[in-house]
Amino acid sequence: MDDGRHELSNAGLFVRDGMIEQVGPTQQLPQHADLVLDLSGQIVLPGFVNTHHHLDQTLTRNLPAAQNNNLFPWLKVHYRVWASRTPEASRCSTLIGLAELAASGCTTVFDHAWRLASGIAPVKKYLAAGVEVGLGVDGSASNDGSNILLEARQALLLARLRLGLLPPEGPRPLFLLSQSHPLRAHEWMTAREVLEMATRGGAAVLGRDDIGSLEAGKCADFFSIDLNTVDYAGALHDPVAATVFCAPQKARYTVIDGRVVVENGQVVTVNMRPVIDAHNRFARQFAGQS
Ligand SMILES: [Zn+2]
Repeated sequence: MDDGRHELSNAGLFVRDGMIEQVGPTQQLPQHADLVLDLSGQIVLPGFVNTHHHLDQTLTRNLPAAQNNNLFPWLKVHYRVWASRTPEASRCSTLIGLAELAASGCTTVFDHAWRLASGIAPVKKYLAAGVEVGLGVDGSASNDGSNILLEARQALLLARLRLGLLPPEGPRPLFLLSQSHPLRAHEWMTAREVLEMATRGGAAVLGRDDIGSLEAGKCADFFSIDLNTVDYAGALHDPVAATVFCAPQKARYTVIDGRVVVENGQVVTVNMRPVIDAHNRFARQFAGQS
């Protein structure tokens, strides 16, 4: 996903000091390195860029008192609980959110509060107008998960649902065409478009030109997905699209700034077991207060 949107087979990356130095056919890469990751049978994608999160909301995900509320009652329930957060609880929650993101291939996160998703955004129109569009998982109090590949798939499905719900735009004769007519092909959100939003788009939204694609001079932020699994069997004629169309799978490896953060599907930079236990204790406490 460089500027030419190249997709390479039997290729790899050479990284030095956290930066990508070379991308190309495996035989043309340096044959020695301090650490060699053999990702045969896996697809390597640029790390996802999550442009919107509230990391300490994992403490209050799936809160029974808020499961079936719309925004204002939902906020009332949560504000009461959030008022009693402690620094230790927030630290646990942040680690859980970051671990979950890393395990879904995310390598950059921007945690802040802004926009409210109400309805289906006309994303294809934004893209056509040259608007930079990124994806965000939002807080876990409303989303209950921090899996950005899942959100990429969701964005694709929502854009297609919108296409099915609304009449075509443009000259009147187009109104008689079905959504699958070739003249309406440009209205369909594609797998590559959502992957681009989750990577290059997010980087552009955050004003970063050093992430979002795999090319020399960019940060060594990438992840891999094992394609030799039941989940992708039968879809490998187009492995890039398979990552979006098939059920989202966890990253096998996630590398951030050249550092392996997820190895064989597990976060290896933090011992997550005690964090998960403490997080569950805090979350039960908060659920009891709601
Ligand atoms: Zn939000």
